[in-house]
Amino acid sequence: MNSKSADILQANDPQLEWKEQQPFSGRYGDVYFSSDSGLDESRYVFLTQNHLQERWPRLNDEVFTIAETGFGTGLNFLCAWQLWNEIAPAGASLYFISFEKYPIALPDLKKALALWPQLQTLSKELCQQYQWITPGWHRLIFDNGRVTLTLIIGDIADTLPLVKAKVDAWFLDGFAPAKNPEMWQPVIFEQMARLSAQSSTFATFTSAGIVKRGLLDASFNVNKISGYGRKREMLAGVMPNHSGNSNRPKASGQHAIVIGAGIAGAASAYALANRGWQVILIDRHSEIAQEASGNPVGIIYPRLTGQDTAMHKLALAGYLHTIRLIQSLNLSANDFNACGVLQLAFDAQELKRCLAVAARNLPETIARYVDDIQASELAGTALSQPGLFFPAAGWVNPVALCKALTNNKLIHKVLNCDIQAIKKIDGRWQVWSGNQHGEQLEAEAPVLILANSNEADQFGISSNLSLQAVRGQISLLPHQAGAKDIKTVICTDGYVSPSANGQNALGATFSPNDIALDVRETDHLANLNMLKKMAPQFYQDAQTEILSISGRAALRAATIDYLPMAGPLLDHDALTKHPPRYNVNASSLPWLEGVYVNAGHGSKGLTHASICAEMIAASICGEPAPVDSKLLAALDPNRFLLRKMGLKALVQGL
Ligand code: SAM
Repeated sequence: MNSKSADILQANDPQLEWKEQQPFSGRYGDVYFSSDSGLDESRYVFLTQNHLQERWPRLNDEVFTIAETGFGTGLNFLCAWQLWNEIAPAGASLYFISFEKYPIALPDLKKALALWPQLQTLSKELCQQYQWITPGWHRLIFDNGRVTLTLIIGDIADTLPLVKAKVDAWFLDGFAPAKNPEMWQPVIFEQMARLSAQSSTFATFTSAGIVKRGLLDASFNVNKISGYGRKREMLAGVMPNHSGNSNRPKASGQHAIVIGAGIAGAASAYALANRGWQVILIDRHSEIAQEASGNPVGIIYPRLTGQDTAMHKLALAGYLHTIRLIQSLNLSANDFNACGVLQLAFDAQELKRCLAVAARNLPETIARYVDDIQASELAGTALSQPGLFFPAAGWVNPVALCKALTNNKLIHKVLNCDIQAIKKIDGRWQVWSGNQHGEQLEAEAPVLILANSNEADQFGISSNLSLQAVRGQISLLPHQAGAKDIKTVICTDGYVSPSANGQNALGATFSPNDIALDVRETDHLANLNMLKKMAPQFYQDAQTEILSISGRAALRAATIDYLPMAGPLLDHDALTKHPPRYNVNASSLPWLEGVYVNAGHGSKGLTHASICAEMIAASICGEPAPVDSKLLAALDPNRFLLRKMGLKALVQGL
């Protein structure tokens, strides 16, 4: 490990110590929870004083959001989840956002939570998903979406301003203000006010004057009340007469149409069906996943930049979300293989990128830097470059993934249906197909998601989306039983997979401005040349198989900045006719209420589409966003139009 990564390791280390079986922060010199009765104190301070016992049974099929400052051992989260299970109505969903700068390592988390046998079932579920925790945003979904934890790793002063949510109750649980003053600064209280929903409440174990004054200054009503056990006083209160922060367009009703049944459409339908929505999923083919998502093999891995770019954040969040999602879908070994992915540093620029990623000191369960010898051992074939190894990544059968995502009685598939026109009638979106016999109304709903790849910009309302078709051909080598194989996916500017259902897949070519779907010898040659340079030994081993090469070509949809488009769509006619002033508020823009886009994923749809679907579903349902607002802005489908109109600053502020 170089000294830079050692610094980073130290910077993130919670310096947890065990004192009489209790977790203790050596960094702050304070306990994570009371050593007398952490569980009862947690329930009294945070659940009782936020009046959750009374508020939750009164909910209908609603979203309730808690935000907690200081995740620590997750004790408060588990207490809230347990109470939610006991008293909240079946149709309601709990969103729990928690901030943590120094995440506890999984073995310590397990040891701390083992103190509470009453919470054992829930602790086990939390620990199962508490993998791959690293700086960034993590969305852990429990009980099929009844409870969702958004765990935000980083300094709260940096991350809280990037949250998009309406918070109903706050758990203020930093270490004691004297020991952890940065958790109790005015900026935190100001952000609490920004994010509070109407009548949002807060509770905290401390009664320190600095906290009381900070909350009062941020417009909360603050009461001093009896503390738990030997603690004399604590604070609790409410945000009075507050309208809450304004959200993007909210959809009415529980019906949605999704156009396009590739990975973007399947993931979008899944995210809504998981929230109890009825979804009509429309595709022009006779089966789902017939275009770019129809390849027999696709690779799931992140292309991290190592810098704090939108691409890095999307790649990491998308990758972690996808592997957690795939775990929950229980795909068979024929459909998903977490064989690991090696990204080789095949030129100076890639080496720089790999080193930048390595310097982030990600947990080894996410990625580690390997030299050429280690890479060769992992891959089971001679390789001559160092690179990054992603042990949980691998190959998937995209058709099987799309089928698993859409195998839900709330998703109604309408196939052989080519939508030609979209109309808005009486506040509902209608989608019409057309043929020589005339137009036909296929479906109508208040919410519409365009996930039809290169055709997402074919409608009047979406003609400004600027998507570009990119042809890609994969090559397939039949793999005979007993023949030499590789053990992991290997990537450079292309990839080769281990045998997946009897075929090694190589790919894919990248040909913009070419929309033909024929399978070409020249493209096979390009893929084989890539293989020869990347893994020469395996190339030699596969000479017989190369004689029986076959392939498949498909079109991917790309954007000019290589980031996908995910989010609500503006009415571009209204926008261009009445351009907003420079500093306009996003909520006053002319939104096409209920229309969203999930497209432009290029060759990364398998890794990015599901987090984009989650972002869109969260926006539709008025839930906390799963990623930060800078990333939301970077993926805004309207960004090209807004930039063209000189409204770049507006894009940043969305
Ligand atoms: N709620 C936790 C539980 O249920 O176990 C206990 C939280 S502990 C008292 C306080 C937590 O705040 C620690 O885990 C600490 O690392 C975290 N913390 C301290 N300063 C922070 C900051 N600036 N940003 C985010 N988290 C911070």
